[in-house]
Amino acid sequence: MIKKLYRDVVVWDAERDSADRCDVVTEGDKILSIFPAGTLRSGCAYEGRGKTALIPGFVNAHGHAAMTLLRGLGEELPLMEWLQEKIWPVENNLDGDMVKKGTALAILEMLSTGTTCFADMYFYMDKVAEASLENGIRCGLSRGIVGDSDGSKLKENLRLARDYHGKEGLITVQLGPHAPYTVDFDLMKEIAAKAKEENLGVQLHWLETSSEWSISGQEGRMTPEEYLSETGMIDVPSLLLAHCVWVGREASSFYARENVTFAHNPKSNLKLGSGVAPLPDYLKAGVRVALGTDGAASNNRLDIWDELRCAAMIHKGTGNDPTLVTSAEALKMATVNGARALGFKDTGLIKEGYKADMILIDLDQPHYVGWDSGNLPGFLVYAGSSADVKATVVAGRVLYQNGSFTETDKDRVIAEAKAARRKLTGHE
Ligand SMILES: [Zn+2]
Repeated sequence: MIKKLYRDVVVWDAERDSADRCDVVTEGDKILSIFPAGTLRSGCAYEGRGKTALIPGFVNAHGHAAMTLLRGLGEELPLMEWLQEKIWPVENNLDGDMVKKGTALAILEMLSTGTTCFADMYFYMDKVAEASLENGIRCGLSRGIVGDSDGSKLKENLRLARDYHGKEGLITVQLGPHAPYTVDFDLMKEIAAKAKEENLGVQLHWLETSSEWSISGQEGRMTPEEYLSETGMIDVPSLLLAHCVWVGREASSFYARENVTFAHNPKSNLKLGSGVAPLPDYLKAGVRVALGTDGAASNNRLDIWDELRCAAMIHKGTGNDPTLVTSAEALKMATVNGARALGFKDTGLIKEGYKADMILIDLDQPHYVGWDSGNLPGFLVYAGSSADVKATVVAGRVLYQNGSFTETDKDRVIAEAKAARRKLTGHE
C-alpha cells in the first residue's frame, strides 16, 4: 500500500487541546503514524512548513445533494408555497440520470470546500451511490420515504442497504422516513422495526418548523418524545434527527443518548424562516450535535464553513452570551460528531488507525496572522473560509488540490449538470 507523508503540518482535531506541528503518515486509506514535526526526512507527499493546518475533513450531516439542480427556484416564498408550487412539481420530473448529475455537482462543491463525507436523503439513491463511488467521497445514504402506501420505497431502501452498505468502506446506508407528517404512524413503526432487524441507522427530519407537530396529526395524542418511544425509533441502532429547531428545552435530555445525533442546519433554518434551534440547551443536556447544510435550494451553499461560523455566532447573539457554542465545539460537530452519526466509527479524528479523511488549510494568509497552538479553532471558524482549503483527502486519496480536482473532470460535471437542469426546469 502506498504511504504518503504530510510533513510539518499543524494538526488539530476535537480531542486535542492544542494544535501541534507534526509529520503525518498515511498508508492506503488510513492514518498510519503521527510524529513530532521534523522526525521524518524522506518520502514527502506534502510539505506543510508549519504554515498548513491538517484537520479532519468535514461531515455534512444533512442534505439532499441532487437539489443542486433546483438551486434558486422560488426564492423567498412562504415555506408551503415554495414546496408545493416550486419544489415538489419539479422533483416529480427527476429521473435517475438527473439525480446522478446533480449529485456529482454537489460532490465537487463539497470537496472543494473541505467536506469529505455527506449524509443524503433523496430518491434514485443507487445513482447517488454511483456518483459518490466514482468521485471517491464518503457518504451515508437513505432513500427518502414519503407516503409509501404499498411499501415499495421501504423495499427500495432495504435493497440499497443490501447493495451498498459497507461498499468500498465508503458508504453506509440508513433508512430514510422523511418526517412524522409524511409517513404514517404504523409505517414509522415498521421502519423502526426493520432498522433494528437489519442493524441499520435512520435519518429523519425532526421538528423543523413550528407547525410540523400539529400537521403530523399527533399533537394532543402524544408528545414528540412519546412518538419516538412508541414507534420504537428512539431505540434504532443510530438515529440522525435533522433540524430539531422545535424540540422543547425541557425535552432536550431525552435525546442525550449514544445512538442519537441532531443535525443542526442553521443557515437553512434561517433562510426558510423556520427559527433558531436552541443549540446551547442541547449541548448543555449532552446531546450529540452535528452540522449540515440541507439541500442547495434552501441554503444555498454546500459549504460547511458557513454553518460553522453561523452555529458559533448566532446563538451568542440570540442568547446575549459570547461564551455559547465555542469554535472548538462547532468544529467537533462538523467533524467527528457527523462521522459517528453516519456509522463511521474510525473517522473524524487525526489519530493513528483512523481513516485518512482530512483537509489541508493554508495558514499563510493575511487573515491568519496571530494564530498559535491554542487559538487555531477560533482563527479557522471566525477568520477562515473554504477559500483557504488547499487540499481535500478522502480515505488517503487526494481528491482536490490547489483549486483542481485530481480525479474528476470538473468541466464535464458542470456541463452535464447544466443539461440536466435544462431538461428538468426548461431553463438553465
Ligand atoms: Zn432536509
